[in-house]
Amino acid sequence: MHAELVMIGTELLLGEIVDTNATKLAKMLREIGLDLYYKTTVGDNLARITDVLNLALDRSDVVITSGGLGPTVDDMTRQAVADATGRPLVYSTELEEQIAERFRSFGREMKENNKRQAYIPDGAVPLPNPVGSAPCFLSDDIEGRGFIVSLPGVPRELEYMMQHTVLPLLIERMGGAQVMKVRMLRTCAVGESNVDRIIGDLMTASNPTVGLAAHAGQTDVRIAAKAATQAEAEARIAPVEAELRRRLGVAVYGVDKETVPEVVGRLLVDQDLQLGVVDTLTGGEIARDLTEAGFGERIAKNLQGLRVAEAVEQLGLPADTSLDGAQGMELTAALAKAVAPPEGVGLALIGPLTSGETDNMTFIAVHGPEDVHLAEMGRGYSGTTYVHRWLTIQSLDRVRRVMLKELESAAD
Ligand code: ATP
Repeated sequence: MHAELVMIGTELLLGEIVDTNATKLAKMLREIGLDLYYKTTVGDNLARITDVLNLALDRSDVVITSGGLGPTVDDMTRQAVADATGRPLVYSTELEEQIAERFRSFGREMKENNKRQAYIPDGAVPLPNPVGSAPCFLSDDIEGRGFIVSLPGVPRELEYMMQHTVLPLLIERMGGAQVMKVRMLRTCAVGESNVDRIIGDLMTASNPTVGLAAHAGQTDVRIAAKAATQAEAEARIAPVEAELRRRLGVAVYGVDKETVPEVVGRLLVDQDLQLGVVDTLTGGEIARDLTEAGFGERIAKNLQGLRVAEAVEQLGLPADTSLDGAQGMELTAALAKAVAPPEGVGLALIGPLTSGETDNMTFIAVHGPEDVHLAEMGRGYSGTTYVHRWLTIQSLDRVRRVMLKELESAAD
């Protein structure tokens, strides 16, 4: 069984209001394990709403509409459902009484145009809406096509109706809710296209599904499984996760919500090491990341916001500050060594401090208790937020790899 959403309203279509209902509905359907295949937004136009509903009924088992159930002439969902299902609108005195009762409870008289809301497609089942005046309804048994649940656009009403009426109904028709379990494998410094090359063949399976999401210096691999129970979903994920880990190796730095600074901070604690940092490039993002992750006390020394020459001077190195080619790499390695506390790790991220120095090379060096890692990152990294983020993650990940003694990854 799979579902489709039809979001109705010109304001939505034109972007005048944000479609929070669609997000909410998608999340609720995911929680009961009902697959959502399509979502369409359509303005307040009878012919177009009817077209969309016809298409939806032909290709989906469940169609949920949101909006257009109010009392005004531009509220056309009732008529569109009637047209798409080939059933006339009929007047329900029972619904009229429900609407009138709601108005009475507020000490108000029902207006003439509210009577429009008492029309529903012939054969549709009214779904009582105790939190609003727009009656909802279920249009069912539509000769071999899906069924439609029509809900109000007002978010509070829609959510109430979903929780109390629609989700129980859907779960019953699905023969029980399904559990969706997601495992995120967080990878670092390998690049999305590389990850895709290594695990691409696993991304065509359906349960679990495997997908990628990339952000500055990181690629997340999302494994999602659906099953009747949590344990069953986990059992589906386990072998796929094992295979992904085998292929990606040390590129997988963590799972779910873990961040690179957290993982590096924990390694420093576990190995009881301190970190010294020289960062001429990001204005202190490396130290800030570690501090925000709760590992500030692991930073023995932090030189930031300096020009390379100043860092060289402060660390008492010979005053040769050339950042060209091999010399730059050597200098960066010397800075990492000089900033490393005794029996600790030194990290140097060296490159242009301001965007006026974009010709300079950027280097990363990590000086560990046993291993040294050097990387030439290229030329032209100036001060954009994205570049800073990327280089910070690259730098911290290299510290991680040195500490794990895993400088080579299967994915490199
Ligand atoms: P009513 O009976 O109150 O008129 P309705 O079913 O006709 O409800 P709409 O008129 O389409 O619903 O929308 C009512 C209000 O609900 C809109 O003005 C908007 O503020 C909000 N709304 C409608 N659709 C959405 C949506 N998809 N996401 C967020 N808010 C929405």
